[in-house]
Amino acid sequence: MDTKLFLTQQLRSYYAGHEVKTVPEIASREFGIGEFGRKISSRHLSFRSASELNQFLHERAPFYISYSNALYKLPSARPMENKHMLGADLIYEFDADEIKTECKLSHDSWKCSSRTCLASGKGRLQLCPECGCGAELDEWVCPECLSETAKQSTRLISFLRDDFGLFEGIAVNFSGSKGFHIHVRGNSVRGLSKPARLELLDYITAANLDMAAIGFFGDFDFKGGKSDSKAKNSFICPKKRDAKGWAKRILDGVLAAFEENDVPKIAVMGGITTNKAELLLKDKNKIIRHIENGVLAFPTKGIDANNFWRNFTKNVVDEEKIEFGRGLEVDRHTSMDINKIIRVPNTIHGSTGLLAKEFQVEKLNSFEPLKDAVVFPENEIKIQNVVAPRFYLKGKWFGPFSAEEVSLPLYAAFYLLARGSASLLDSRGVGH
Ligand SMILES: [Zn+2]
Ligand SMILES: [Zn+2]
Repeated sequence: MDTKLFLTQQLRSYYAGHEVKTVPEIASREFGIGEFGRKISSRHLSFRSASELNQFLHERAPFYISYSNALYKLPSARPMENKHMLGADLIYEFDADEIKTECKLSHDSWKCSSRTCLASGKGRLQLCPECGCGAELDEWVCPECLSETAKQSTRLISFLRDDFGLFEGIAVNFSGSKGFHIHVRGNSVRGLSKPARLELLDYITAANLDMAAIGFFGDFDFKGGKSDSKAKNSFICPKKRDAKGWAKRILDGVLAAFEENDVPKIAVMGGITTNKAELLLKDKNKIIRHIENGVLAFPTKGIDANNFWRNFTKNVVDEEKIEFGRGLEVDRHTSMDINKIIRVPNTIHGSTGLLAKEFQVEKLNSFEPLKDAVVFPENEIKIQNVVAPRFYLKGKWFGPFSAEEVSLPLYAAFYLLARGSASLLDSRGVGH
């Protein structure tokens, strides 16, 4: 039996027993499906109801199914203009491969794309160090990088709620592969124009954040002739009780860093020596009290207060802001594309066999994708030519494997077969 047929049978049997009810206003959405090895093979599909969608999933068992964040009057009409857009949800995507983590050195690898060069190695490289050709990456995920991705997603939720006041209509799901999708639906976002969506994106990524405009580093008011050296070394900041949005985030971050009393951290964040940081922390309580009252004070002599506070606040912003993708410019366009389609929550991702499982927003930091999104059964099947680093699924570690024949639970075999890291042994190895 060939791999595609085998995997299709597994998908079909899954959809036969599980209904997908995760698409609100289904009749106004455009759908797209993908085949084995091809994430989108046709678009412009539409379904009048959830039962029509489920019947389709059962019959066709597609490897991938996505739907539009936009709502249309005529979702299957072509070209795009003829669909008549009625509005669009906000969608944010976070992928583990866009976040730097140590674990990538152990599970990712690269090999040179040139046929004459055999260079390869662990970790991630853009270019082959031997010949300068592009490197091909073999990317995997593990609990560590997915948990970092979940943290970014949690930060985004905090921006949506605390800064934008969006509490209704937020839904979160695992992407089925490397990260998380956050959907914001409902009337409060539906009518947002593309420039408005970009403005939201710029806000959460702190692009062009103007510190003066949010109340930092204006001229200190030297009223009363108190132009002594201490006052000259001080700057205004918003008062803690009045601070909102980014101003609040920055003040909270600065205060937390001082409360922690961590000398090396203060030194790194402010760009000063640890000796100076130690001296500075002796005045910790005074500094905190000043900040609460709207002054970034710097009582320690011999340091450039301007540099210190600018470095410090910039580092707080870098810690707090959301980062999308490798190059923000690319993502400014793709992440706010209102005609895009995205995986239907609670359907299977055909490159992994994992469910793009929807879960409660509050569970973002406890949901374990590589465990909780495993849906295929335990029965073992034999696969061959297995090439994989050590990988984790359903609470167990497997591998590493190098061109071996192994017997694995169906869920792990699907995972490897789907990504092309193994092949079926023969039809007798298939437990049906
Ligand atoms: Zn090379
Ligand atoms: Zn990892």
